[in-house]
Amino acid sequence: MKQAFRSRHAFSKTNLVTINKGGRMYDELKCSICGMTGRMYVISEYVTVADKYSDDLVINCLEPMVDNFKGKLIQVTQCQAVGKPFANLLTNTYHLVVTPPKGYCNRSDGVWVQGVGKPVKLLNNEFNFIEIKRRKFNQKTKKS
Ligand SMILES: [Zn+2]
Repeated sequence: MKQAFRSRHAFSKTNLVTINKGGRMYDELKCSICGMTGRMYVISEYVTVADKYSDDLVINCLEPMVDNFKGKLIQVTQCQAVGKPFANLLTNTYHLVVTPPKGYCNRSDGVWVQGVGKPVKLLNNEFNFIEIKRRKFNQKTKKS
């Protein structure tokens, strides 16, 4: 079993009354963002979760310590979402990955870009990452 930090997920209780099994009292919790479920045996900052969850997810789903995606350039292949906020995400247009709204994160399953009026999430089958080729400003590079 692994220990997840309550503060790194959006856990809420799924049972109305504390469960009592053989004298062990616990609450069952579920994270509304990543769907992780676990048990809290005493009121604490830890939730006991199953080993099947990856360490990355257990450590943090709410606010990734390192956002590996922010600032990356993506090219839309086909955005399947409809609605005004997605109006600028036309096929083949380029966008930078932005900071997600509070409670969300850029993950391997999708990233946030600036839509019309608000950030929107593109799913990983709707875009490709584009490598930004840095321009060389100095023709001569000093060798030390
Ligand atoms: Zn979570």
